Amino acid sequence: MALAARIVVLPGDGIGPEVTEAARRVLDAAAGRVGLGLDYVSDLVGGAAVDAYGVALRPQTLRLCKTADAILFGAVGGPKWDDAAPNSTVRPGSALLGLRKGLGLFANLRPVRVDPSMVAVSALRPERIQDVDLLVVRELTGGLYFSRPKRRYVTPRGEAAVDTMRYSAPEIERVAVRAFELARMRRGRVCSVDKANVLETSRLWRAVVSGVALRYPDVTCTHMLVDAFAMELLRRPQAFDIVVTENLFGDILTDEASMLAGALGMLPSASLGAGTLGLYEPIHGSAPDIAGKGIANPIGAILSAALLLRWSLNQEDAAQAIERAVSRVLAAGLRTADIATDGQAPAGTAAMADAIVDALR
Ligand code: NAD
Repeated sequence: MALAARIVVLPGDGIGPEVTEAARRVLDAAAGRVGLGLDYVSDLVGGAAVDAYGVALRPQTLRLCKTADAILFGAVGGPKWDDAAPNSTVRPGSALLGLRKGLGLFANLRPVRVDPSMVAVSALRPERIQDVDLLVVRELTGGLYFSRPKRRYVTPRGEAAVDTMRYSAPEIERVAVRAFELARMRRGRVCSVDKANVLETSRLWRAVVSGVALRYPDVTCTHMLVDAFAMELLRRPQAFDIVVTENLFGDILTDEASMLAGALGMLPSASLGAGTLGLYEPIHGSAPDIAGKGIANPIGAILSAALLLRWSLNQEDAAQAIERAVSRVLAAGLRTADIATDGQAPAGTAAMADAIVDALR
């Protein structure tokens, strides 16, 4: 094989290993089609790493990721570990935050497409969701998740807690530039979502995005308040192309958007920085309620593998081949339990992956 790319696989906890294995098999099949060799190295993160090593993310894991072409990530967390203090290194989520920050992955791309054969599965009326094709660009290394101070403390009148929302102009500018560049590759529209009527960070956000927009006269830029956007996302989702927003708003809005696509298990994501290194993961969590049963929907993880081929390995044909294979399998009526309709016998995780691998061939 002419090329070999190095992929670090971090399955994590709960259904993470199940959906990551499915995604790896599909990735292998798609890479094989275009003669691309892939070297895999796996490591523990999240609760699995806490159990084995006492921390959610070891420094050597971060170093390993820095040497990779791309990272395939499952999900982290579970009731066994979730009571740990939010900022502690034994909290599974700290692995993801450490990877995002440590690798400089500031832009989280979350495409939301409604597959034609999933229109009936969505909680929304068909005419509301037909042809939905939007891309949320979520800022990933700033805002409430990272800014300090962040702590819980005791006052004479009882407990109190503080989180801090801080953004600098360069942090906003680089993610805005990414959004406008992506808009040029799509339908040329950016909607920036903020809370500029209340938050100072949002007023800075709006000013910086407006400044970037001047450099892209071919792209239409609009601004919306997050509360109004949350409503419009359900009322007229077809109206949106690129949606750019800060960390917390992006997290919440993309879970909402997943309901357009049918289920949380359907949506992929790519976390990118300045170069081609990226971390690819489904947007869902570790789903402890269904872990170990072999019934998780692997499509979000499998579509994340497609994004890996597109954004880190520059293999657009192989990426599209996966996306078409997923579409074909859904059109043929195969459904995991989360997207099955009444009376339909659901397929398990492995059966869904098998069918997608077959469709690729
Ligand atoms: P979750 O996304 O894990 O699950 C929410 C619901 O969706 C559950 O009912 C689950 O069964 C279902 N679901 C999720 N993915 C599915 C799939 N692929 N197929 C079928 N059903 C699926 O969110 P949660 O329950 O709030 O969190 C569970 C754990 O995951 C927590 O520890 C949380 O901290 C963690 N979490 C991790 C990430 C991540 O690693 N990126 C993201 C969110 C939550």
